[in-house]
Amino acid sequence: MVVCENRDTAVAWMQFIQCAKGRCSVSAFNNWIAPIVVIEATPLEITLKVPNIFVKEYLLSNFKEELRAFLPVNGQGEPAINFVIDAGNREPKKQEVQQEQTLPAPVHTSLRGQVKLNPKYRFDSFIDGADNQFAKSAAVGVATRPGQSYNPLFIHGCVGLGKTHMLHSIGHYITDNNKKLRVQCITTEAFINDLVDSLKNKSIDQMKKFYRSDLDVLLVDDIQFLQNRLNFEEEFCNMFEALINQNKQIVVTSDKPPAQLKLSERMIGRMEWGLVAHIGVPDLETRVAILQHKANQKGFAVPQEMAFYIAEYVRDNVRQLEGVVNRLSAHCRLLNVEISQDLVAKTLMDMMQHTPHHQITVDQILKCVAAVFQVSVKDLKGPTRTKELAVPRQVAMYLACQLVDGTLKMLSESFGKTHSTILHASKAIEKRVTGDDILRRQIEIVKRNIQAAAA
Ligand code: ADP
Ligand code: MG
Repeated sequence: MVVCENRDTAVAWMQFIQCAKGRCSVSAFNNWIAPIVVIEATPLEITLKVPNIFVKEYLLSNFKEELRAFLPVNGQGEPAINFVIDAGNREPKKQEVQQEQTLPAPVHTSLRGQVKLNPKYRFDSFIDGADNQFAKSAAVGVATRPGQSYNPLFIHGCVGLGKTHMLHSIGHYITDNNKKLRVQCITTEAFINDLVDSLKNKSIDQMKKFYRSDLDVLLVDDIQFLQNRLNFEEEFCNMFEALINQNKQIVVTSDKPPAQLKLSERMIGRMEWGLVAHIGVPDLETRVAILQHKANQKGFAVPQEMAFYIAEYVRDNVRQLEGVVNRLSAHCRLLNVEISQDLVAKTLMDMMQHTPHHQITVDQILKCVAAVFQVSVKDLKGPTRTKELAVPRQVAMYLACQLVDGTLKMLSESFGKTHSTILHASKAIEKRVTGDDILRRQIEIVKRNIQAAAA
């Protein structure tokens, strides 16, 4: 049964379906999109039932931008979708297996964790501004003389500011200008998955060979996902050194500078070997130029005064800026209306509602931890030292250190504990999550709930 609690998100999903219909063939639509069922829709997220993991991958690989434009997005700017794999469908019938094999492969991913370069992410579609010029010059330098200028090039900046765009631009430039060079672009998550699979299938030597000698340029997106994954970090570091020693170009992106990553000193040192470049938040004029460029690409005209209005409102995430353009253009096209100030204001209101902007408090953390670990807030704050309470209490302190904007003094007052207890708890959990998958998942759920509560 379809239970839609929130009309807006449910309507947005229907609009997305209309948009998707126009973007793929009838058979692709029937095979991939039509079987998806909305289970729940709230202002913060949508829960979709999909018949198998391939449908989920297809949707995310081919329609990420459209999903971002139509649906609520989470704190990372990703579409806030909860996928439920239909248990009754886990064992596909023979006929279905055959059908799956003949369906088109997802556009952006392929073997060995490699990501296909997004054809839209090129240097000429990257708008320069004072805050990204240094990083862009470095990227162009590396792309023109791979392995001979800065190695590695480490690009860092907040989410949605164009790191992946720049990384893929480097890849395109190199492949366009030097066909002989083998360029691999990977996400850190995919590298880890690949490593896990290789260990399982006892094919680790093949993997090592692939990453160490079958490529000339390695582009690594989102290295922050290597944090707290000690075993993988070592393998990554070995591969990294092997490549650098052969003058193979490495480019890494991250949401933080090397020194702020929770990685080993060895790894941080390697990241700082070459050039570290920061991408900052673009200024107003650059944001307007980006917005107009994105609108132009879609053949959609945004009057200059409205472009300024939007760019003043959406300040620190280009992906969101693009989301506004996508949503406006889809709306105008589907309903056959002109862009207007009212429509812009309503779209901004709808989209920004989903962006967390309130500060997270210790009380919110305690409440969410208590709910997930099934204990009471009172007990969490109390003195009892049973095992059932010790771990969730430490988790609350660990999360407070990560998420709450405040001094250690303020945190220790909120918890009624000493500074060193808080630091010790935080370190203990940090260490423990590396080997405890259940705890890591529990913490992820708590974090998600905290973000939803603070939004
Ligand atoms: P990040 O990897 O830093 O989270 P992305 O590279 O995915 O960000 O960028 C998010 C979106 O914003 C992409 O669609 C990208 O094309 C766009 N974008 C970001 N910065 C720029 C820019 N300076 N010029 C053009 N597009 C940009
Ligand atoms: Mg990215």
